[in-house]
Amino acid sequence: MEVKGRFAPTPSGRMHLGNMLAALLAWLDVRSAGGELVLRIEDLDTQRTSREFAAQLLDDLRWLGLDWDEGGLEAGYMQSCRTKYYEEVFRTLKERGAVYPCYCTRSERLAASAPHRDDGAVVYDGRCYHLTAAEREALELQGRRPAWRVRCPDLKVTVEDGNCGRYTEDLARDCGDFIVRRSDGVFAYQLAVVVDDALMGIDHVVRGRDLLCSAPRQAWLHQMLGYVPPAFFHVPLLLAPDGRRLAKRDRDMDMGSLRERYGPEELTGLLAFYAGLLDRPEKVTAKELVSLFSWAKVPKNDVVAGTP
Ligand code: GLU
Repeated sequence: MEVKGRFAPTPSGRMHLGNMLAALLAWLDVRSAGGELVLRIEDLDTQRTSREFAAQLLDDLRWLGLDWDEGGLEAGYMQSCRTKYYEEVFRTLKERGAVYPCYCTRSERLAASAPHRDDGAVVYDGRCYHLTAAEREALELQGRRPAWRVRCPDLKVTVEDGNCGRYTEDLARDCGDFIVRRSDGVFAYQLAVVVDDALMGIDHVVRGRDLLCSAPRQAWLHQMLGYVPPAFFHVPLLLAPDGRRLAKRDRDMDMGSLRERYGPEELTGLLAFYAGLLDRPEKVTAKELVSLFSWAKVPKNDVVAGTP
């Protein structure tokens, strides 16, 4: 079967070295299998993202020698233009009674949550699930606008990650009822990503390890909606020398700064070294890496990037 993968960046700033590592591995995963790559722009949150950042990231990918077969700045591949698909699925979930309105404010939500998970997220205790129709109505009359949560069953979901191995979560205990639509009407990442991956026929999802904890709930949502979940491959995050995760605000690791200091082949070599494909950083093109690529070589744990 032909592989169809995707790279799905959020255009909320200039990409950093860690984003480029995920992009390179998503590209190599597809190209080494003779498959196709979709570039999807995850700009659901129009306050935090911009078309300029999106255009910039396309340029950064091309600069590194990465291409794609579908997607980019066309409306069909920008989440901000795909609301009708999310609406449709949301309506189905509502009709099935799978989602419920949650009126908790941010501080109420934190108070209504079990202790934080390892990834800093909180597990909501489901209190709004138990509201009566009259209580809901009273809150609506106060002008409260609800977010919508999907009700999670007491179910263990296991994902066989193609890089990290087996990962299991007990949905009710480890994840809790999660938001699929925010109170301002914007659809949440968890819903949009599942709908898009399914409708775009994606069967390989390659992305940063910070999203491994989202994989069980996404696999479950795929199944609940009658889709086949994709195979997941979570790639190491790059850490600064002090152990912090690289973030878009680390300007010296962002593509603006890196492109001033490196050529594309030099930077590809550095990424290939971090990805376990080269023994030491040396100039290489993305195309030359295709024959060297194997998931067996890619580290399972995060990698300290040092100061390049
Ligand atoms: N848009 C997400 C990000 O940039 C990635 C989502 C995904 O790959 O599932 O972090």
